[in-house]
Amino acid sequence: MTSLVIRAVILAAVAAAIAIPVGLFSRPWHGWAVFCVGLVLQQLIHFRHFSRLDRWTRKPVVDASLEGEGAWDDIFGRLYRHEKELRAQIEQREQTIKLLRAATQALTDGVVMLDLQNNIMFCNTTAETQLGLKLDADQGQSILNLVRQPEFVAYLEALDFSRPLTLRPERYKDRVYAIHVIPYAGSRRLMQIKDITQADRLDQTRRDFVANVSHELRTPLTVLAGFLETMQEIELDDAERRRYLAMMADQSDRMQSIVQDLLTLSSIESAPPPDNDVVDMASLIDKLRRDAEALSAGRHSILVETDGNGDLRGSEPELISALANLVTNAVRYTPPGGKITLSWKTSPQGAEFAVQDTGPGIDAKHIPRLTERFYRVDRGRSRDSGGTGLGLAIVKHSLNRHQAQLDIKSELGVGSRFAARFPASRVANS
Ligand code: ADP
Repeated sequence: MTSLVIRAVILAAVAAAIAIPVGLFSRPWHGWAVFCVGLVLQQLIHFRHFSRLDRWTRKPVVDASLEGEGAWDDIFGRLYRHEKELRAQIEQREQTIKLLRAATQALTDGVVMLDLQNNIMFCNTTAETQLGLKLDADQGQSILNLVRQPEFVAYLEALDFSRPLTLRPERYKDRVYAIHVIPYAGSRRLMQIKDITQADRLDQTRRDFVANVSHELRTPLTVLAGFLETMQEIELDDAERRRYLAMMADQSDRMQSIVQDLLTLSSIESAPPPDNDVVDMASLIDKLRRDAEALSAGRHSILVETDGNGDLRGSEPELISALANLVTNAVRYTPPGGKITLSWKTSPQGAEFAVQDTGPGIDAKHIPRLTERFYRVDRGRSRDSGGTGLGLAIVKHSLNRHQAQLDIKSELGVGSRFAARFPASRVANS
């Protein structure tokens, strides 16, 4: 500004320096006229710069269009540099916002930014899918008008965000979300939506498992306790005592079998990948046949069909336990006089060990659940034949660890076929 004043004074002095001689040598008003013309010229120059500035401020462009003379040039230069810095800062901030949005989009959790009135300021695509929102259309709208599930509305309205909300969304009945609301920047709220379906299922499985184990052990324990009480209170003769003790031994065997199967299951679940031993299938099948004959005690005819080719690669104890379970089940569930066939076949695609029986067969509705822990078609029959309900769960786990599949085919009144299918990578010497 000072340079503008100095310049105005200089111009006025120049006008005066020309006007004074003119006034002295001609007439005084000629001098005044020259002085006034000088001042008007000065005003015109200022006016020209003002209008240039006026035009520029309406549409500031960072180019060389804002140029002036003298002190105006300094002012325009400063303005120009200021505008340039401002633009650089804005561009940098826009870039940061873009990156932050991209980072939020990359999150696997849903994120919704809300204002104090629960209006949506921003949400990522995960949250759009989870809650059925559409950012373009729903921005600025209250989330309570868009997600109307009563427990969600109650949670946001209660304003107590110390615990997350567990929500089973109406639009995806099989999913479970944990919704956390985190207040930030004073009155705003950040909503984080975590999909906890998997963890919830695991938790449910664990609860069911504990309930099942307790139930399975409680029954023989109750029977044992009953016998003990009777023996303590009543005088028994020798024959009766022996009968009671035999029944107590049955119950204790039963508990032992359950605990043994549970330990087997837990050890294969936590074990490292199985070994790669070559398991001689000819002698394994021979052993399975002999065990089956011993268990059957002549009540069934037991046949073996093998193409004599190929052995298996894997953990020998695990494979024996899995395949023996299938054979034992066939003997236990097939009524006397039935036929049980063990077969072993290899092909370029892999190998199959199967046990076919002429037992009672299994209704199709039970088949998908047979490998669940403690699942039985007929609880009484399983228990009477010494079953724990864990056999096929152990089979499935052991086979999975060998990349093999359990295939079950059965027809009521005709019989069942349980087949373990191994991939070619698990077959040796074929
Ligand atoms: P369990 O110890 O009760 O035999 P498993 O897990 O071995 O438990 O088998 C689960 C259920 O599958 C059994 O209770 C039985 O109902 C059915 N099952 C298994 N094998 C056969 C079979 N060969 N024939 C008929 N039912 C079978």
